[in-house]
Amino acid sequence: GRPACECNTCYGGPDCSLFLPSCSANADGGDPLFLEPFWKQHAESSAVVVAGWHRMSYSFSDQTTLSKELESLLRKLHSLVGNAITDGKYILFGAGSTQLLNAAAHALSPHNSSLPATAVASIPYYALYQKQIEFFDPADCSFQGDPARWNNTTNTTGDIIEFVTAPNNPDGQLNEAVLHGPNVKTIHDRAYYWPHFTGIPSPADEDLTIFTISKLTGHAGSRFGWALIRNEEVYQRMDRYLELNTMGVSRDTQLRALKLLKVIIGDGGREIFEFGYKTMTKRWARLRKTLSMSNRFSLQKVPPENCTYFQKVREPTPAYAWVKCEREEDKDCFEILNVAKILGRAGSIFHDDSRYVRLSLIRSDDDFDVLISRLKSLISGEDGAK
Ligand code: PMP
Repeated sequence: GRPACECNTCYGGPDCSLFLPSCSANADGGDPLFLEPFWKQHAESSAVVVAGWHRMSYSFSDQTTLSKELESLLRKLHSLVGNAITDGKYILFGAGSTQLLNAAAHALSPHNSSLPATAVASIPYYALYQKQIEFFDPADCSFQGDPARWNNTTNTTGDIIEFVTAPNNPDGQLNEAVLHGPNVKTIHDRAYYWPHFTGIPSPADEDLTIFTISKLTGHAGSRFGWALIRNEEVYQRMDRYLELNTMGVSRDTQLRALKLLKVIIGDGGREIFEFGYKTMTKRWARLRKTLSMSNRFSLQKVPPENCTYFQKVREPTPAYAWVKCEREEDKDCFEILNVAKILGRAGSIFHDDSRYVRLSLIRSDDDFDVLISRLKSLISGEDGAK
């Protein structure tokens, strides 16, 4: 057996099979370890070995053959999956989509204007958009919350930047832009627009779309994302930001991304997307079954989508459950779950009601098993449980 110190945090004993009653289910962060078993099956073909003297130079993103090869693999991947049109678009790499989101907000903000741009995102939204803008505090952009407020207002003079997340984090909806017009610019965050999580009804063909390997291959720690950009000037402004900020993306990271993409593209993506879709489908089935016994908690409803990749209409299998506490007295849903040793992320973090809580479904198998077991105990103790 493994020594106890190597067991998952929720297990102990000589062979790690003893469930520790004191442990909490971690369903908080979006660490995408659900894909780890896939990479264990491809350990050899996905390995990267770099000799000490290799690739020592600075990387200027569009000059190296490595970057060119990576760019052409990304274009091939999008055309295989059918989730984005890359013809007529520039591609820029970033340290995760996190860096590109900031570069994009910078590039779309007015320069030399006395009127700063207003950034908005529909509630519930991923907290990072607002945090970045407020932390870096640019003179030419401020975050103002929900776009619904701007629909019929008189603010028609300044530029508006809308973040559109599709599928959305936290609720999995395939959001569309709310605002349109000559002074509206849109940043499409498509971190989750892969067959693991959603049907792919049609390829994205937007002015500025951001992707990441974090939720595609699961390699969140490698920090690699890319942006598809239609307009040359926007591309150049983003490129300038990246040059001044980090002087391009680590070549070690690019090399790793290249290797991983080669593995998944080898069979047209079949294996990884089938693995991802199956894993997420099984997890959703277990979660739905567990919550179907409860009158107290409900799950978001996301409509089925046609998936051009799997060539069928399918139920979405979002990365997160967006749970609502239905009882009048359960106003703080995060706390209700927390007391039952389930760590989620409070609805208020996504600027929504605290009756909601987000549970991550993309963590490791162990994390998910513990989550289901904690939910079962909570629900079985419920008055009037079905
Ligand atoms: N956008 C969304 C909607 C996300 O959920 C995340 C990660 N949780 C990111 C962007 C950032 O991802 P990364 O920087 O790892 O690419």
